Amino acid sequence: MSLFGTMPGISGSIEVVCGPMFSGKTEELIRRVKRAQIARQKVQIFKPAIDNRYHETEVVSHSSLSMEATPVNSSVEILQRVFDSTRVVAIDEVQFFDDNITIVVEKLARRGIRVIMAGLDQDFMGKPFGPMASLLAIADSVNKIHAICTVCGAPATKTFRKDPKNSSQVLVGETDLYEARCRAHADFFGEDQDQLAFFVNLNESRSKSQNL
Ligand SMILES: [Zn+2]
Repeated sequence: MSLFGTMPGISGSIEVVCGPMFSGKTEELIRRVKRAQIARQKVQIFKPAIDNRYHETEVVSHSSLSMEATPVNSSVEILQRVFDSTRVVAIDEVQFFDDNITIVVEKLARRGIRVIMAGLDQDFMGKPFGPMASLLAIADSVNKIHAICTVCGAPATKTFRKDPKNSSQVLVGETDLYEARCRAHADFFGEDQDQLAFFVNLNESRSKSQNL
């Protein structure tokens, strides 16, 4: 198999399903995979070896839907493991991969493969998670899906860490440490305090200028 060859006449594609924790990203990935399998397309599913929260070799959603997945230690390992006959490659928890993942999925798509990825678009600080910003940019199709804010019930786009003292970006399997929150209720480390100070300063300078 040529890693760099193209398949004339067959168009590959790159799809990203992203959102916060508890938004159903993995369920959506599994739904797309199942439809492809019903159409008898050969599917291979990968996940980063780091994601062992429930099962070594399965993609497991929070609602316990599951599928067999191959754990890989790097993005390049995906290229090495994809068979010639594979039509669809699904990748779960894609935010944990190294930056080469963008090159890997471009190569797969050029080979005519449909690549479907699911991952957290933002970390618990509200910043782009790992390679996600680049993946969203190169994707043909992006679905941002929402969870429900645990405070107000509005659509939630943020993952909120209940223990802000722990500052590591990746805490695998610690789902009880996180909640889905809307923008208004995701107070990332005193960001609201900064905004408050900004508006106080703005008002002060306004009242000063009125007094002149
Ligand atoms: Zn809210």
